[in-house]
Amino acid sequence: SVTVVGSLNEDVLVAVDRLPGRGQTVIARTATLAPGGKGANQAAAAGLLGPGVHMVGRVGDDPAGARQLAALAASRVNVGRVLRTAGVPTGSATIPVEDGTGENLIVVVPGANARLAPADVDVPSVRDARVLWLQLEVPLATVRAAAERATGTVVLTPAPPQPLPADLLDRVGLLVPNEHELVQLAGAQPADRSAAELVALARAVTPGSVVVTLGGRGALLVPRDGGPALLQEPPPVTAVDTTGAGDCFCGALAQALAAGAGQAGAVRYAVAAAALSTTGPGARGALPDDDAVRTGMSR
Ligand code: ADP
Repeated sequence: SVTVVGSLNEDVLVAVDRLPGRGQTVIARTATLAPGGKGANQAAAAGLLGPGVHMVGRVGDDPAGARQLAALAASRVNVGRVLRTAGVPTGSATIPVEDGTGENLIVVVPGANARLAPADVDVPSVRDARVLWLQLEVPLATVRAAAERATGTVVLTPAPPQPLPADLLDRVGLLVPNEHELVQLAGAQPADRSAAELVALARAVTPGSVVVTLGGRGALLVPRDGGPALLQEPPPVTAVDTTGAGDCFCGALAQALAAGAGQAGAVRYAVAAAALSTTGPGARGALPDDDAVRTGMSR
């Protein structure tokens, strides 16, 4: 089984001709609601790939919260441990997207996500999960508490990036940053880096295993204990929207690890799943099922 502890948001995608500058007002052409939040997106990807996925989080006692629960349930995620919190709104992300360029801005209101407390993660689905997947969009004290209670493999997506306390890193069996997050965690400057340089950064951040996602270049597995790194390239796809590719990657990696795959095999599966997720619009618009991923891997 896979348990995801993390954020649920309602994304408000706003189509604008030009992004507003400071102090400016612009009129949008359309606004579209979509289910989001890094935690919930990862859970949805995992749920569509296989059974046994649980989400732990908080939404408000509002229509947006009901929409997030319904969307996750439709992706075959067990939402029995997503608590509804009176008096705070469901988390949201307002995202103006500029026509033509696709450039965006993001304003996040944490809402109920900020209320997820250590006591909320003291539940069997956290303790007993084969794979417990965490991110940093809920309070750090809660992330630490979940990691402490887990008896299975603990995986952390360090997003948004922030310094990781040693006691948390000690509990994390696998860290899954994207390239930008890895650079931030290592305190390095942004630059074009070779695979060997990325391996050195990963080893500087943690002695544990790391999988660095590299966009269209695939993903780099840096195993613990100094074993040889492995770069897994994606199968050929026509990418139209890479929003949420990282979340799909994580959901797929979680399912493969929970099914008993080794790290290299799990990364191969996740790279194939994430590639397919880029072939349609939106964070959850083109999430593949298991058959599609296996077909993609054999191409
Ligand atoms: P994030 O979405 O967090 O920024 P990445 O951009 O690294 O993360 O993408 C996550 C994963 O999605 C990559 O490791 C890769 O497997 C897949 N992916 C992203 N962009 C593409 C692409 N253009 N073609 C194929 N696969 C992609």
